[in-house]
Amino acid sequence: MQEISSAVKKSHSLQKKTALIKQQNKPIDSLRIYQNGISFLEKQFADMSYEKPYALSSAGQQLLVWVVSGQPFIIAALPQSLISFNKYNKDVVPLREYESEFIEFKVRVLLDEKEHGNDQIWELTNKKGFSLIDLSNPDDTKKYYQKKIVIHHNNGSLFINDKKVQQKYLKIDPLEEYIGFNDNHYRGSFIVIHDNQKTLLINQIELEDYVACVLNAESWPGWPLEVNKAFAIASRTYLAHKVLEATAAGLSYHIKNTNIHQTYNGIHSSDLLKKAVEQTKGLIVTYNKKPILAMFDSCCGGIIPAHMSGIDFKHTPYLARKIPCTFCKSCKLYSWKLEYTLAQLEEILQEAEKPLKNLQDIRIIKKDKAGVVHKVACIGKPHELTFTGQQFYSLLSKVKSYCYSIEKKGKKIIIQGRGYGHNRGICQWGARNMVDEGWNYRSILSFYYPGTLLMKLRPVIYKV
Ligand SMILES: [Zn+2]
Repeated sequence: MQEISSAVKKSHSLQKKTALIKQQNKPIDSLRIYQNGISFLEKQFADMSYEKPYALSSAGQQLLVWVVSGQPFIIAALPQSLISFNKYNKDVVPLREYESEFIEFKVRVLLDEKEHGNDQIWELTNKKGFSLIDLSNPDDTKKYYQKKIVIHHNNGSLFINDKKVQQKYLKIDPLEEYIGFNDNHYRGSFIVIHDNQKTLLINQIELEDYVACVLNAESWPGWPLEVNKAFAIASRTYLAHKVLEATAAGLSYHIKNTNIHQTYNGIHSSDLLKKAVEQTKGLIVTYNKKPILAMFDSCCGGIIPAHMSGIDFKHTPYLARKIPCTFCKSCKLYSWKLEYTLAQLEEILQEAEKPLKNLQDIRIIKKDKAGVVHKVACIGKPHELTFTGQQFYSLLSKVKSYCYSIEKKGKKIIIQGRGYGHNRGICQWGARNMVDEGWNYRSILSFYYPGTLLMKLRPVIYKV
């Protein structure tokens, strides 16, 4: 009963608002979205259809607006941002959740960042030119009918084609197709953020396009569609996890373009990868209804992740797989062997500025039940140096995982290891071979991420 009366009240309030707006005879024809005082989007309403939710995307935000009789009434933002609804923003009150179809979400990928003081040049190319929009003042748009623009910052100032610009937040749209940058081509827009300490170069791209691009670097286009579907879902999930993290941390981007997060080099021409993304559109792996930290590596080497110590499995129980993966046994990376002379290793230590004289031996001091090395001692005379397993792995570029043994034979050190990567999450070679044995992407994902569920991304709409 209470619900009905509140619905009636809401309906009255909606009518009042309509009346108020009509009375003032100033129909709203545009919408601006503000984040941290910066206007990120201005949208004209002329192309909006009536009586339907209309999806808008802004920089890292999703919005839904419902236009009734030419007036926008329902608005939603994911995550909830500061919204200025022209001067009527006080009227916009989120009341209840409403489910809708999946809409496009724009991902902000950090391509480069430079501290001030570094003289840095970024060159962007396009066949026709660019339009530059000041995100602090979208009325300020400039068109450059040149195939190349040079963004240059020096001593805290930003220059476009050698002209100093005052804008701190610039959006750069290509006049045709893609933007070229560093020998790659990118869909979507570029954003330049010039703050007090750094200048950031960001590519803003639709979520599904981003996943399709990432797969080219993180997967194998020549592998079967089914396994690429599993990788598409893992990449999308990893991104969703990072988006939540970045939003909570108030970052101006969601994810980095290197293998620190996921390698992203822009567009490619693989239809198979695009198909893998389309056929799994919006799907992510979840635990407790949240996107998981969907780690994956090349080859797990048969290591049981649940036996690894020092890993935060409390927050990532789905990475603590108890069943060994045997599917990657035929992969070359499953086990590997390296040989070094003591002299070679001494030189590597010198180069890494970890000088040690008269290297005599290298020994593993601590290993966990899974076989992951935690402490290594390099014994010299009169000193010795100790490293964590990961530090030692980073020192020797040929060591492929954290799981290895070390043996001294005369003046040689033999390192034998298993797998390639961090040994957690999806084992890509294993997953590839599972497909040949009849596994589908759902069963592959539930094997490598035990206890998880597949869910579809969708926005939450708040009704006024
Ligand atoms: Zn494996």
